[in-house]
Amino acid sequence: MNVVREFGRSILVLSIAGLTVLFEMHAANLAQSSFYLAKSTLYSAKVPSSAATSDSTTGSESVDQPVVTPDYVLPPITNKLVPVLNRIPTNQRVVFLGIDDGVTRSDDALNLLAKSHVPVSLFLNDVNVEHDANYFKELQSSGAIVENHTTNHEDLTTLNYANQKQEICANADRFGLLFDRRPTIFRPPYGSYNQITRRAAADCGMRVLISWSAKANGGSMQYQDGNTGLKPGDIVLMHFRPEFAHDFKAYQDAVKAAGLRTASLEDWLK
Ligand SMILES: [Zn+2]
Repeated sequence: MNVVREFGRSILVLSIAGLTVLFEMHAANLAQSSFYLAKSTLYSAKVPSSAATSDSTTGSESVDQPVVTPDYVLPPITNKLVPVLNRIPTNQRVVFLGIDDGVTRSDDALNLLAKSHVPVSLFLNDVNVEHDANYFKELQSSGAIVENHTTNHEDLTTLNYANQKQEICANADRFGLLFDRRPTIFRPPYGSYNQITRRAAADCGMRVLISWSAKANGGSMQYQDGNTGLKPGDIVLMHFRPEFAHDFKAYQDAVKAAGLRTASLEDWLK
């Protein structure tokens, strides 16, 4: 009897594995033809977990993990100031990754991001993008979403309202044209901001100002608030630097060690 039961169980497991592969192939096709459409459809339809795990935005991290639905509501702009977050309050076992500036543009970074399917937001400056727009368009076509990090990467707290607004609005307008999507999330250079920055960001159409709660830096992880590992809702900061591969590995190892997965900032900050 035990042998029969084991055999039956094996057939069931194989069937589920086969279905998962089919779903993944289907999702890969969807993602290729229309990344944004595939992504929003999968989330809004609240599909069963077997299909949701095939979401190309979560890729290799999501295999065998249950579907996650954004459970955070971004506060509205109040008194003409955008809300500020350094992490996202969530009960889901997710973390978020933002990669900044765009100074070092290596094939390593292109290949790793495309292969891993980790959903990332890129906080870029015009001064870096203008040198090599196709590089970032290639990242975008593999799923990355480009957000606002100002035109010239200046410390905004040294600028008046008009100049802060120029730094933020010009970046959003330029990227809107270049990437066919105007940024909605703003990260100030150096994490440095004041109330004027929050107002300028709101006036430029940004919905939120974010900083970070952990970093992948110099090939290892750095945590804030005395933490020794990633916690749900952490926003991790990384950069396009020569050590990209080491930083990205440190990040992925930390995500795995904490039993978390990467989710898209844009999904949680609607
Ligand atoms: Zn920066």
